[in-house]
Amino acid sequence: MGDLRGFLEELRRRGSIQEFEEPMALEEVYRSIRSNPGMRAIFKEVRGYDSKIVTGICGSRELIAAAIGIDPSALHGALNDAIKNPLEPGESPSAAFSEAEEDLSRLPISRYYPKDGGPYISSAIVSARSPDGSIENVSIHRMMVLGGRRLAIRIVPRHLFRLCEMAKASGLKALSVGMAIGLHPSVLLAASSPAPFGVSEYAVANRLMGGGLRLTRLENRSRVPSDAEIAIEGEISLEESEDEGPFVDLTGTYDIVRKQPVVKVDKVYRRDGSIYHALLPGGPEHAILMGLPYEAKIREWVAATVSTVRDVRLTPGGCGWLHAVISIEKQAEGDGKNALLAAFAAHPSLKHAVVVDSDIDISDPVAVEWAIATRFQGDRDLVIIRGARGSSLDPSADQENLTTTKLGFDATRPLSKPKDKFLRVGPEGR
Ligand code: MN
Repeated sequence: MGDLRGFLEELRRRGSIQEFEEPMALEEVYRSIRSNPGMRAIFKEVRGYDSKIVTGICGSRELIAAAIGIDPSALHGALNDAIKNPLEPGESPSAAFSEAEEDLSRLPISRYYPKDGGPYISSAIVSARSPDGSIENVSIHRMMVLGGRRLAIRIVPRHLFRLCEMAKASGLKALSVGMAIGLHPSVLLAASSPAPFGVSEYAVANRLMGGGLRLTRLENRSRVPSDAEIAIEGEISLEESEDEGPFVDLTGTYDIVRKQPVVKVDKVYRRDGSIYHALLPGGPEHAILMGLPYEAKIREWVAATVSTVRDVRLTPGGCGWLHAVISIEKQAEGDGKNALLAAFAAHPSLKHAVVVDSDIDISDPVAVEWAIATRFQGDRDLVIIRGARGSSLDPSADQENLTTTKLGFDATRPLSKPKDKFLRVGPEGR
C-alpha cells in the first residue's frame, strides 16, 4: 500500500471516493473541483488527455491517518517521531514510470481559478541536493506553467531557497531537481513537514511508511519515488526569473505577483494510465497538508514549555495555517501565556492563538468561543506581539517584509477563583 494506487484501491473498497466514469472536458473537471472543495474523487476520462485526475485524497486528518494506518489521535506523535527518526529509503534503478515526453503538454494541468496567472501544478514535490550532494530536501511548491518546458516556481525562504543560495555560492547557474506528482499521502505529508535542514523528507516519509518507500534516480541524479505516477526532470535557473501569480492560495484570496525562478523541464516520465493529482488551492487538502505538520510541531514545543498539552488544532476558519487552538492542563498561573509564546515560536506564520483548558473541545469553534467568552479578560489575558515575522499569505500583513501583529488569547480559567465557577453545567445540573 505504499503508492497512490494502493491507497485509492483502499478508498474504493470502502466506498469513500467518488468515481466519474464519463468523459469530461478539462475545464469541466476543474470547475467541478473548484465548486466542491471537500470533494474526494477520481475523474477517469479527461477529453484530450490520457491521464486520470484525482482530487481530495488528503482532505481530512482521518484520510491521512488511514493512509498511514494509524488512529487520527496518533498523527502528531507519528509525525514528530518520523522527523526525529528518519529512515533512509532504499533505491531501485527500475521505476513504475518510464520516459514519455519532452514537455508538459500531455499533463492535465489547468488554472484552478479564472484569474490565476496561468495553469498551475499544486501537488508536486520538488527534490534537490546541495552542491556536494550531502543534503537533500523535498518540498511542495506551486508552479505556474509558462510554456511546454518552462515553469515559474514559488520558493519562499526556506530549505529549497537555501539550496539555491548554496548552489549560487558555488558558482552554479542552475540547480538540478526531480519533481513528482501522484504520490502516497505519506510522501506529501512528509514533504510539507518542518523537518530540520539536512534531514531528507524522503526519510521522514519512509519512516511514516514503515520502510516502504523506494526511490529512483533520474538522469540528473535527483531522486523521486519509484512508484510516482508522474516524474519530471529539470533544473531551477539561478539566473532567470519571471512573474509568478496571481494565484489563489491557502487563504482563498489571490496572492500577489512576484518575480520567481524559472524551472526548465528536460523530461517527463509517466506510468501507464497515469493519475494526475489536482490539489485545490485553499481547499481542505491544502489546509490539512500544510497545517497538520505544524500542529505536531506546536504540540511538541508547547509540551516542552508547560506540563501537559492535550491537543492542537490549526482551525479551518484560520485557513488551517494562521490560527491555532491549544488545550492544556494548566498547573500554574501563567502556563497559558507560556504556551502561547511556545506556539508562536514553533510556527512563524501563526497569527492568532487561543489557549484553553482541557475540558474544551478544540475541534468545536463554538466551544472555543465560549471559553473566550467566560474565561478571558482582555486587559489581563491578551498577549500582543507587534512586528513579528508572519505569513506571506495574509493580505492584511506586510507581504513584502513579512511582518505582522500576533495576538495570543489565554482563555484558561484563573486558578485564583473556584474551578466550579467556570465549568459548563451539564443536564443533571452539576
Ligand atoms: Mn526541508
